Amino acid sequence: MNIWADYHTHTRYSHGSGSIEQNVKSAIKKGLSTIGISEHGPANIGIGPKLGDFYKMRKEIEKLKNIYTNIDILLGCEANIVSLDGKLDIPDEILANLDYIMVGLHPMVWAQSLGDGFHLFVENTLAKMFRNATLKERVMKQNTNALVRAIKSKNIKIITHPGLHLPIDTEQLAIIAAKNETALEINAGHGYMTEEYVRIAHANGARFAIGSDAHHPKDVGRFDKAVDIARKAGLTAEDIINASTVKETVLL
Ligand SMILES: [Zn+2]
Ligand SMILES: [Zn+2]
Repeated sequence: MNIWADYHTHTRYSHGSGSIEQNVKSAIKKGLSTIGISEHGPANIGIGPKLGDFYKMRKEIEKLKNIYTNIDILLGCEANIVSLDGKLDIPDEILANLDYIMVGLHPMVWAQSLGDGFHLFVENTLAKMFRNATLKERVMKQNTNALVRAIKSKNIKIITHPGLHLPIDTEQLAIIAAKNETALEINAGHGYMTEEYVRIAHANGARFAIGSDAHHPKDVGRFDKAVDIARKAGLTAEDIINASTVKETVLL
């Protein structure tokens, strides 16, 4: 299985440690044919870039495209969900300027309102702390519903690390994701995802994307953990939007 694109990479624009150019160079070294720069939305507490940074990144990428012509350089994002009804923290006019949209549920986020913050983040923390089954069930429904509404209202390419930190109903998410051609990420950086999770999502029609979630240029294109999970769960290249069966330069 050859992974030819890394859609999930961070830079100094948020809490990554490298520049866009360093990520591009690392991707070329790893033999990728596509690299995506996918910064967090501005609602991530303490690390989110400013909205204006997305225009700066676009300019930088357009320049780099002229220098590195042997790779596709894309500008994406990893937007946050900031309300129970699935609103994103990046406005439509900026989303329209991106090559693709990824969305992830993160725990440390400024919510749209106090009520949304309470339900999405405080209740999730409480459910985790007290291991209360009823509360866990309720937050899982809320989390899943917020993701489902986001998928239905925007053209989302990938849901990043589904189920990390905040629990979700895999089956329901997979069904809606499949219907809307949104891929579920198998995240190589966090390595939390289980084969079981992938099997359930696969059985419900979901397709997947493998992402490094690199926060350092050297980790761009590092997919080992995710490929391992994908293989063990019985996925083939056809199930993964950035995989092909052709063996190229990337050795996994
Ligand atoms: Zn994330
Ligand atoms: Zn990320």
